[in-house]
Amino acid sequence: MTAMNGYDYDLLVIGSGPAGHRAAIQAAKLGRKAALCEMRAVVGGVCINTGTIPSKTLREAALHLSGYRERAIYGASYMVKKNITMRDLLFRADHVIRHEIDVACHQLQRNGIEILPARASFVGPHAVRLAYTDGRGLHDVSAAAIVIATGTETTRPDHIAFDGERIFTSDDLLKLPALPRSLAVVGAGVIGLEYATIFAALGVRVTVIDKRKRLLGFVDGEIIDALVHQMRENRVSLRLGEEVAAIEPFADAKGPRVRIRLESGKQVVARAALYSVGRTGATAALDLAAAGLASGERGLIEVNDAFQTEVPHIYAVGDVVGFPSLASTSMEQGRLAACHAFGVNAAAARELCPYGIYTIPEISMVGRTEEELTEAGVPYEVGRSAYREIARGQIIGDSSGLLKLLFHLETRELMGVHILGEGASELVHIGQAVLAHRGTIDYFVDTVFNYPTLAECYKTAAFDGINRLD
Ligand SMILES: Cc1cc2nc3c(=O)[nH]c(=O)nc-3n(C[C@H](O)[C@H](O)[C@H](O)COP(=O)(O)OP(=O)(O)OC[C@H]3O[C@@H](n4cnc5c(N)ncnc54)[C@H](O)[C@@H]3O)c2cc1C
Repeated sequence: MTAMNGYDYDLLVIGSGPAGHRAAIQAAKLGRKAALCEMRAVVGGVCINTGTIPSKTLREAALHLSGYRERAIYGASYMVKKNITMRDLLFRADHVIRHEIDVACHQLQRNGIEILPARASFVGPHAVRLAYTDGRGLHDVSAAAIVIATGTETTRPDHIAFDGERIFTSDDLLKLPALPRSLAVVGAGVIGLEYATIFAALGVRVTVIDKRKRLLGFVDGEIIDALVHQMRENRVSLRLGEEVAAIEPFADAKGPRVRIRLESGKQVVARAALYSVGRTGATAALDLAAAGLASGERGLIEVNDAFQTEVPHIYAVGDVVGFPSLASTSMEQGRLAACHAFGVNAAAARELCPYGIYTIPEISMVGRTEEELTEAGVPYEVGRSAYREIARGQIIGDSSGLLKLLFHLETRELMGVHILGEGASELVHIGQAVLAHRGTIDYFVDTVFNYPTLAECYKTAAFDGINRLD
């Protein structure tokens, strides 16, 4: 295939994570000549190699081996395996990572996308220098449109003595030699909380530290209260509203440990510390200036609604453009950018983007929160259903799960769905479909659900909400 307009490629994508992968495939599906440049030895980005896929697989391994899901039925001492090691957890993660890399490679090859194993940097608005990682040296290529999908890197302040073992980031987690007996998690964002709850389920004594007083400000407050309750049940200590002054490795008779000094004078001592305070856009090596671009705060790139940068034929998608920084939204942004580059109209339902937060228990949400509706002055009512009221909830032993529907007080239109508990990130899509079609909560009353399923929570919550209208 030859590119149009005399360039080497119609589309050159920099970065093979979910954003870049989807952009390249979309261009190929539109009959364009596309190439994908990746500086790592394998494709898949943070998503497959160090972030989404490993963390979700470790979570699954931890839930299974610890017997956590069954404890409500068989008792708090129930375990599938005693003395769980990092090796046990990584066995499952390695298997899934290898498979996902293979699937991603195969998809790229099947769609005729050239994979360029190189670090890319701009030498002009249409020209990119490739520093090959396989010994082929330097080579310049040109493209009509370019997509920057370089993602982010963990933020590692110079004053913290990271050693990848006692003080580590989420990128180092897969290389941990052993599970620590106790862990301090600095930073209670999504990643910090997910790992805090996974380690707690494995019996590690966890302390979470964050300068904010409330966890995950974008999540419905009632759901966060329920999460905090569950975390405390799992012996997680929360030190919120606390600034970290210093993180110091030290050793005494008990062995090597870490001391975290807080501005308030308190100290947290643990066997290890996970530093999880933000991520920085991977733009430093791109020489953006050569293309007439600059990065903004935290290395992120600013884009318009079509994901165009200030140079209209250069797009930026995925984590490198900032919030919401999810694999799911990154893929969609890659698709939309490629469509826009080639003048194809693509529909996007951005306001109906669901969020999945894989803490233990899991959280998922779509639509608006109570806080947002209150601020917007929208009259609404709430319908709730506890998993324990549902036969499936009893069968699986999830006694703390909660599904909450928000609907308009007058029109009864569904406005938001918020779930905490087993299967939340799957269940939420039922609500997402009803929201997309501007359905009312009567849909749930009038619909037959399989029995016994967690989906029945929708019906129970709808009845609860309607009962409140009297
Ligand atoms: C621990 C963790 C857990 C997560 N869990 C979830 C989750 O459960 N659900 C979810 O939706 N999201 C999750 N995320 C977020 C998700 O991983 C990201 O949103 C997603 O990976 C972003 O995709 P991306 O394509 O923008 O970038 P990335 O996946 O970061 O890929 C960027 C790629 O670009 C390459 N690159 C960078 N610079 C260059 C260059 N100059 N030349 C060539 N190649 C370059 C990098 O090597 C990398 O392969 C998680 C993230 C982390 C860290």
